[in-house]
Amino acid sequence: MIEEKGILFILSGPSGVGKGTVRKKLFEEATELQYSISMTTRNMRPGEMDGVDYFYKSVEEFENLIEQNQLLEYAKYVSNYYGTPRTYVEETLEKGQDVFLEIEVQGALQVKENFPEGVFIFLFPPSLEELKNRIVNRGTESQELVLNRLKEARKEIEMMDAYDYVVVNDQVEHAVDKVKSIIQSEHLKRERV
Ligand code: 5GP
Repeated sequence: MIEEKGILFILSGPSGVGKGTVRKKLFEEATELQYSISMTTRNMRPGEMDGVDYFYKSVEEFENLIEQNQLLEYAKYVSNYYGTPRTYVEETLEKGQDVFLEIEVQGALQVKENFPEGVFIFLFPPSLEELKNRIVNRGTESQELVLNRLKEARKEIEMMDAYDYVVVNDQVEHAVDKVKSIIQSEHLKRERV
């Protein structure tokens, strides 16, 4: 059985849908996956750590990374930059290891242009009402930011058709199980004897 390059998995979907929670739970179990830590210019939230949750950058540093073509994709989301380090992803895939991205929709669509062979998973909220509650109840952001995130979420849901899989996040454990099944079946698809 020969598997060559690693597979790039992209978990995306609207803010507040629970991408972070699903990804963290998945990583407690799926140790063979490599998570690509993103760069961001947003402020660190309580409990977060530089180099664990994100690499926190100034706007100037981030714009330099863009100029030097060091980002595989990036997006300005609710007035902050977020981006994926190119070298880490490319080198890890070359080594034959799978890479997992957890990013918003604009960025995922950019990745699709460069890596059409990637596996694109859209995490869908049980309902828009539920999504609104999750964004509001996160409680770390101002009302203006909450409204912007909701507006963004509605636009993002319209992009769902560009994805390979849609997983409804009704319960974290179910969503994680579905993502694990997707990972397994994508490996089976690519196995060569
Ligand atoms: P948060 O500020 O809540 O951590 O993240 C806001 C949004 O940015 C989330 O939807 C998250 O998935 C997304 N995000 C995190 N890292 C990246 C990245 O590297 N690129 C893009 N395009 N989005 C990201």
